[in-house]
Amino acid sequence: MSTPIPATLIPGDGIGPEIMDATLAALDALGAPFVWDRQIAGLGGVELAGDPLPQATLDSIRRTRLALKGPLETPSGGGYRSSNVRLREEFQLYANLRPALTIIPGGRFDKIDLVVVRENLEGLYIGHEHYVKIDNDPHAVAMATGINTRAGSRRLLQYAFDHAVTTGRKKVTIVHKANIMKALTGIFLETGLDLYEREYKGKFELDTVIIDACAMKLVLNPWQFDMLVTTNLFGDILSDLVAGLVGGLGMAPGANIGADAAIFEAVHGSAPDIAGKGIANPTALLLAAAMMLDHCQLAPMATRLRRAIDETLNVDQVRTGDLGGKAGTAEFTQALVSRIHASR
Ligand code: NAD
Repeated sequence: MSTPIPATLIPGDGIGPEIMDATLAALDALGAPFVWDRQIAGLGGVELAGDPLPQATLDSIRRTRLALKGPLETPSGGGYRSSNVRLREEFQLYANLRPALTIIPGGRFDKIDLVVVRENLEGLYIGHEHYVKIDNDPHAVAMATGINTRAGSRRLLQYAFDHAVTTGRKKVTIVHKANIMKALTGIFLETGLDLYEREYKGKFELDTVIIDACAMKLVLNPWQFDMLVTTNLFGDILSDLVAGLVGGLGMAPGANIGADAAIFEAVHGSAPDIAGKGIANPTALLLAAAMMLDHCQLAPMATRLRRAIDETLNVDQVRTGDLGGKAGTAEFTQALVSRIHASR
């Protein structure tokens, strides 16, 4: 019997509760030792507590330092600030880990096994933006400031390099635009090269590539990459690109890792168009739960979960509509739980 692990559970908005139920059923079947503290955020937080990120939710994560989170709705344009961004800032979740692994073979790109490590807190996403009015045009000029620090770059690169070593990645590619944004992304490149020379040389191969060339190479020959590590904006774009290589957002999990906490989630949003219909694909959140098991040193359970997902999709051919199948969330979950029980 494993030691109980306290963890915060945020079912989230839209399809969140449906895919979270499926994920909890799988974790229960595995006997995962999480002791859940159920909390709210996003639209659910606004509706039930008048706050998209209630204090009780923050307190819970501060206590458990570990969370599994469903998608949270964020209004576009006006309205409240993204609870996801606030969570990253609040818990200094500086590393965003986005693996892309082919599970269903025979797609446009087969046998993909890549991971993108994205800096999550700095760069052009810090939100220092403003307009300058000229004559009658209040939006005549738009300005944004990006900030990358040596310390912020170093801690992210160190996390990525350590992750490459512990997971046996052979090659790490630093993605940058230091030919144009010489200071802003140059500092990231320079820090990465220096760190590699000093502490990681020989442990894996290090390569560098400019972001635009990287985008092209990923589409022409994604197999040449193993791990990509990059700054916030480039990482945001590339991690969706690599999700596309393995069948889209429905198959893409993500982890937000910091010194003080780790939050695991599906990459997709709350899918309001299909919420409540019982047809959502829970695979991305299930894969996020597998990452959470790895994070908690429960690798054998993570492996069993990943294998059961693979068998359900490929051997039993039980697939939800977004993957071309006919199964609803409940039917998929039932098949998955049977596979987990059979793997004992
Ligand atoms: P979305 O990812 O919710 O949906 C895009 C499309 O993919 C929709 O057609 C949807 O039905 C489909 N889809 C997504 N997940 C699916 C699943 N598991 N199974 C089957 N189909 C699925 O993106 P959106 O519509 O742009 O965003 C909706 C809301 O989610 C917005 O408020 C947005 O801010 C929020 N969002 C949250 C997160 C997060 O919490 N991490 C991430 C992205 C978007």
